[in-house]
Amino acid sequence: MTTRRTITIDVEDIPALEVRCGNCAGLVSFPVGHQAADFLKCPGCGQSLLEVGSASSMTLVQIAAALAKWKSITQKKFALTVTLDLPS
Ligand SMILES: [Zn+2]
Repeated sequence: MTTRRTITIDVEDIPALEVRCGNCAGLVSFPVGHQAADFLKCPGCGQSLLEVGSASSMTLVQIAAALAKWKSITQKKFALTVTLDLPS
């Protein structure tokens, strides 16, 4: 029998989105409810992480906006959660 460990997080409980540099692991955090940048350089190595109009930049902005919108809705008929697999 295979077992797996998971954790379920209510989207309401996500405090921020993080952008982590693939080169040096430098980290930039965008609190949910604040405008996510559509361009960004890594604070560690200066590598360009997000560029205006790129698919990744637009996706980050859209996810941040969707989370902020979800949190602003006061009358919800369901909870929205994400499930993460934990390492065994
Ligand atoms: Zn970096």
